[in-house]
Amino acid sequence: MNCPFCKEVLEDSRCQNCGYDLNKCRWISIKKVYPPDDIIIESLLKASGIPVKLHRREVSQIPVGIGPMAETDIYVPEIIVTEAKSLIDSNYNEPEPN
Ligand SMILES: [Zn+2]
Repeated sequence: MNCPFCKEVLEDSRCQNCGYDLNKCRWISIKKVYPPDDIIIESLLKASGIPVKLHRREVSQIPVGIGPMAETDIYVPEIIVTEAKSLIDSNYNEPEPN
């Protein structure tokens, strides 16, 4: 992945080039999706070098990680939110609501 600030290749959570630290920056939830779209979006962002975190939130009554009810929040560093959103918008189509 790449540093969201200076775009240098990141080998650690802290950028060797500009000092940007993924552990200290703010992470913003940019989208809420359901499996398997979480994996699709994760790989989409990773393929572009954007750091991404997934937060799965199980809906009560449903076993962990099973079924379409496990909501996933997609988090990216605050500094790269706009870029990540436009990447998703141009590469991923929202499923039609039932
Ligand atoms: Zn950097």
